[in-house]
Amino acid sequence: MKYVSTRGAAPVLAFGDVLLTGLARDGGLYVPESWPSLGPGALERFAEAEYPDTALEVMWPYVEDSIERDAFEAIVRDAYSTFDTPEVTPLYDLGDGLWLLELFHGPTLAFKDVALQLVGRLFDHELRRRGERVTIVGATSGDTGSAAIEACRDRESIEIFIFHPAGRVSEVQRRQMTTVGSANVHNVAIEGTFDDCQDLVKALFADQELRDRLHLAAVNSINWARVMAQIVYYVVAAAKLERGAAPVAFSVPTGNFGNVFAGYAAQRMGVPISQFVVGSNRNDILTRFLASGTMTIHEVHPTLSPSMDIQVSSNLERLLFELYGRDGAQVAELMLRFRAEGTVTIDPDRLALLREHWSGARIDDDATLRVIADVHRELGLLIDPHTAVGLGAARVLRRDRSVPMVVHATAHPAKFPDAVEQATGVRPPLPGPLADLLERPERYEILPAEPTTVKRYLEQVLAAR
Ligand SMILES: *Cc1c(COP(=O)(O)O)cnc(C)c1O
Repeated sequence: MKYVSTRGAAPVLAFGDVLLTGLARDGGLYVPESWPSLGPGALERFAEAEYPDTALEVMWPYVEDSIERDAFEAIVRDAYSTFDTPEVTPLYDLGDGLWLLELFHGPTLAFKDVALQLVGRLFDHELRRRGERVTIVGATSGDTGSAAIEACRDRESIEIFIFHPAGRVSEVQRRQMTTVGSANVHNVAIEGTFDDCQDLVKALFADQELRDRLHLAAVNSINWARVMAQIVYYVVAAAKLERGAAPVAFSVPTGNFGNVFAGYAAQRMGVPISQFVVGSNRNDILTRFLASGTMTIHEVHPTLSPSMDIQVSSNLERLLFELYGRDGAQVAELMLRFRAEGTVTIDPDRLALLREHWSGARIDDDATLRVIADVHRELGLLIDPHTAVGLGAARVLRRDRSVPMVVHATAHPAKFPDAVEQATGVRPPLPGPLADLLERPERYEILPAEPTTVKRYLEQVLAAR
């Protein structure tokens, strides 16, 4: 499989290069040149299969030019052995044809582990093959940092630096990052906001000399390999529920659009998916876009579901590329206009096409708390606020009650204990392996939001390693 940019003007690359490259040189995102098909009978077979076996079959066409089958198989099996259940992403029956797909059984209790446990290992494999090392730098408002650290810790070819805004992430989120003792992991609390952290990362990447000398790299959610890994659980859920004989619908609490775009990819590969519901919190750019065809940037408001507090959903560009018949020039024009003017509108025919399968709902904090409370009262089950946005949106927008609706449970409730306690009066305990998290020693640096200081720090740490 070769990969092309959504803006049509970057080199065509193989999987190994796409993995390490991130953003394409023309500012676009890499997508596969064509969508492989799962073939007849695949879902029936997957209904009985173990998760790693399905994962191997679903992902193989995307990687086959760049990695040996045995090596890939070993990486896939190792990645998913870190989950606390052999099912990896189990389904939970909510009744009335509604299901939760539990994506939080990985080491950091959020769905990002499903992709990053694989991507960390793929990075390491590809770098060793090339005899190269990289310095991963990333900014986090919470979940991504811990999942990236957990995926990259103790890997020989990787140093990882994660910047979080000092005092602005929850204690559980901070400790999941700062209690990792590995020598290649470096946490920095930046005296500033998440935006300051992101600006620092951008400043590091913009310094071309530094970027080349330190081999800077990113594992952010525009990386194709992350999307690829997320296709698998759509296939698994559809296979288990209907064996490919009937359609399934999905509702996905959405931020950067990476997770729900993986559902689109699954659909293109042949999974019968009749409906995608995109759940948003008060930051509802996607709800407005799916209703009107106009995408307009507003300011970001903090909410109870912070991993979805986002202005621009980068991965939406991949869906627009398909909607525009894979015409990179048109996508480039659209995205540049959006960046320049803060707003862009697609034509009514394209909007109608999109709305055949896609719709979005906004679930604000009050509604989120009500969903958490309802589920607890009715089923005795605790769900996290992101999951609640997905479930709330599913209830509003579900089209056909005879079709199973699968809601993505993207985080364990113990990751957001304050919101869960506010809604239910019950504070969810951390699961076994993390039970002593609050007693573990922490290790992190505190630095001002100042590029020169941060660069000097990076160089000092790397020189000492
Ligand atoms: C990252 C995240 C999301 C949003 O996923 P996207 O792929 O960015 O749309 C939703 N819920 C949780 C808990 C997350 O960590």
